[in-house]
Amino acid sequence: QAKKAGRNALRFFDQKMQDAISARAALESELRGAFEQQQFELYYQIQVDSEQRPTGAEALLRWIQPDGSFISPAKFIPLAEETGMILPIGKWVIETACAQLQLWSQDPRTSKLSLAVNVSARQFRQADFGAQVYAAVQRHEINPSLLKLELTEGILLENISDTVASMTELKAIGVRISLDDFGTGYSSLQYLKQLPLDQLKIDQSFVRDLASDNSDQAIVRTITAMAHSLNLDVIAEGVESADQRQQLAHVGCLHYQGYLFGRPLPLAQFETLWHEYADQAPQLLAG
Ligand code: C2E
Ligand code: MG
Ligand code: MG
Ligand code: MG
Repeated sequence: QAKKAGRNALRFFDQKMQDAISARAALESELRGAFEQQQFELYYQIQVDSEQRPTGAEALLRWIQPDGSFISPAKFIPLAEETGMILPIGKWVIETACAQLQLWSQDPRTSKLSLAVNVSARQFRQADFGAQVYAAVQRHEINPSLLKLELTEGILLENISDTVASMTELKAIGVRISLDDFGTGYSSLQYLKQLPLDQLKIDQSFVRDLASDNSDQAIVRTITAMAHSLNLDVIAEGVESADQRQQLAHVGCLHYQGYLFGRPLPLAQFETLWHEYADQAPQLLAG
């Protein structure tokens, strides 16, 4: 009896595994087809400083199916990483971002806009990643300091000296490097000190309850102070309320990104929002 139940359980498990494997295979070939059919688009989310001046944007990938429905990056990015599809997709993201920076550079109202793109660990580890970035920067003749690569602490699981070497190569091109989702990963202070970073991006999990949670306040204050003493910029992501923004300013964090300022938007809508912010922002006193 027990043996029979065991066998049934096993068969059931087999079936579930089989289903999971074929669902994954289906999603994988859908992903490949979607890329070939150009169903990916970059959306742009505005970043502002403490005086509401717009400073830049983050490019966020969207998979838009022919029927208009969206598949969230939280769902397809991990799969793209596993299957290696992130390599051609990631290359396309960098190309598209550089082409966009080139267009923005031609208009004085957007010529200082810096654009951040997300880079997955697997993409970063390619031997020719630096060469890819360099080629894109050259091809589109952009100011490299306006391109910011967002890396996550996942890259630090690799050999530290390889990581430093790859980052140094990127810095030599002139692009900026930001450490995304900061505080959720594994970076030790020892690592941080060695990496040629420009910015820490405080993860939204520390921002969410900032108004009420004393330990989150302490964490954000500490990250901000540490960033500044290491000469790094700091930006908070996931800022949704005026309360959160006020708390952030209170602990010294002066750059923000989140729904409070704008959602990730398609290009045309993003540009409209950018101009609204630019028009309303207090002007720097002319010399
Ligand atoms: P991320 O880089 O940490 O991006 C921030 C995420 O938070 C985005 O989710 C954004 O839409 C969302 N967000 C922004 N403001 C708020 C807010 O005020 N409240 C809340 N609750 N959420 C906010 P999204 O667009 O779904 O992207 C999820 C993740 O997918 C990204 O996290 C990034 O890790 C990855 N991703 C997106 N685009 C790319 C890409 O082009 N390449 C790679 N490798 N990864 C990407
Ligand atoms: Mg990011
Ligand atoms: Mg993030
Ligand atoms: Mg995040």
